[in-house]
Amino acid sequence: MNTDCGECGAGISVPEDAIVGEIFSCKDCSSEYEVAEISNGRVLLKPAEQVGEDWGE
Ligand SMILES: [Zn+2]
Repeated sequence: MNTDCGECGAGISVPEDAIVGEIFSCKDCSSEYEVAEISNGRVLLKPAEQVGEDWGE
């Protein structure tokens, strides 16, 4: 699945087995994105929150 970086427009490749909540970073600008939704083979990313959230297991 491929989507675009909202910051720089570079393509981001997301594995087919990605899950909602998984974090990916743009290879070009290092912006971090969280998988917000996966539907019909398309992935929707949202900027990963970095404001004191605890993402520990
Ligand atoms: Zn980028």
